[in-house]
Amino acid sequence: MKIAVFGAGYVGLVQAAGLASTGNTVFAGDVSHEKLEMMRQGKSPIYEAGLEELLESGLKSKRLNFYHVEDAAFKKALQEAQVIFVAVGTPEKPDGSSDMQYIFKVMDQLSTLEGDLSDKVVVTKSTVPVGTGDEIEAYLKKKGKTPVVASNPEFLKQGSAVQDFMKPERVIIGTLDPKAVALLTELHHPFMLKRDRILSMSRRSAELVKYACNSFLATKISFINEMARLAEAMGADIREIRAGMITDSRIGDQFLFPGIGYGGSCLPKDTHSLMVQGRKLQEPMKMMEAIDFVNQRQRRWVADKLEELWGNKAAGKSIALWGLSFKPNTDDLREAPSVQLISRLMEMGVKIQAHDPAAMENIRKMFSAAVYEGKIRLFDDPYEALKGASALALVTEWSEYRSPDFDKIKSELKEPIILDGRNIFDPKGMLEKGFRYRGVGSNSVA
Ligand code: NAD
Repeated sequence: MKIAVFGAGYVGLVQAAGLASTGNTVFAGDVSHEKLEMMRQGKSPIYEAGLEELLESGLKSKRLNFYHVEDAAFKKALQEAQVIFVAVGTPEKPDGSSDMQYIFKVMDQLSTLEGDLSDKVVVTKSTVPVGTGDEIEAYLKKKGKTPVVASNPEFLKQGSAVQDFMKPERVIIGTLDPKAVALLTELHHPFMLKRDRILSMSRRSAELVKYACNSFLATKISFINEMARLAEAMGADIREIRAGMITDSRIGDQFLFPGIGYGGSCLPKDTHSLMVQGRKLQEPMKMMEAIDFVNQRQRRWVADKLEELWGNKAAGKSIALWGLSFKPNTDDLREAPSVQLISRLMEMGVKIQAHDPAAMENIRKMFSAAVYEGKIRLFDDPYEALKGASALALVTEWSEYRSPDFDKIKSELKEPIILDGRNIFDPKGMLEKGFRYRGVGSNSVA
């Protein structure tokens, strides 16, 4: 099929490259000249395992093509495409609602095409407030365009995006139009050879499923984090509580890791957007409000523990941070707990020495003045980042931090303090090695 994709970010680029790999001709349009230049050279602007290989093979076969959205060639491609995916950002506005300007810019562009577009399916992959499909349909209709408008929410996880795209747990097709269902089913069939996991449903249900999933995942994380605080206050250990919980098959073991809260480009913004959507309909999302509160509080854990340990003597000290991205295997810093932490540490007068396997360039751009002034120093070697620091905080649980050389850590640190924001180290082992160790949700170690 001939496919167009608006937006070549985490979702759109994976979608475009993935669909090209199964024989479709894909025209991907973006507004960033910088990203387009990289992608045309086979370089992925984002860190995702397997993406560059997919990109290279798509370019080589000429089935994957990148354009600026204003290029005449992209307009021609849109005119030819059977399916047009929309994967532009829907970021959070200050009031928590979703910023829909990029979605409607795309619709403005579609309005300039020739014909009534009734032979095309326009598919939102972006996470959009429920009812957006109806709004898009009405907006385009006013301009004489009548494509089928469908929802096909994206469920990929950053860090394993290519793998998730190639082997999706399910594909949701939100439209009741039988031809569009058939077309989108055909497009996804190659990824479903072992077991059919395509669910078709109404457009509004499809839009809401995405929010329901992300809200539920956020709920699990905040649940275990709140339980961790209680365990600590009660002299219990959340690791033991977790072990006792996850053997119950009704509960399961996913997304129940205590830590320093959730971040990333989806969970915070989607839960906030859902709360705004609920309020508009006089259906306040009381659970989500509490889940958000717990998360905000949990994200302050590292700095709170440092204040407990150092009192008013924090200013002038240095801390080593291991891990900056919002989760392992990505370079994404959107809503990463590290960003908030770095800002708070700088307010406390604490100097930062950081390492991350993928996100250091992004931190350098985000905090360029502080990097320039030496308030934040970035190191290619995680052990170099420890030299002269008075504590190590484990912020993101990249696998390379999971079984480190503790003797080396101890010899490099000025004070043997480890704040384990992801509970990956063994508390007893830490005590035996002479560390002052703090994990989330236990007070068993000095
Ligand atoms: P992103 O910021 O990485 O990508 C968006 C891309 O759209 C950027 O490259 C931007 O330059 C481009 N763009 C902006 N305006 C454009 C326009 N008018 N025409 C063409 N391109 C334009 O965002 P993302 O993480 O890929 O997220 C996209 C959407 O998918 C969001 O709604 C998000 O909530 C949703 N989503 C994201 C994930 C994820 O893990 N990142 C997962 C599921 C769903």
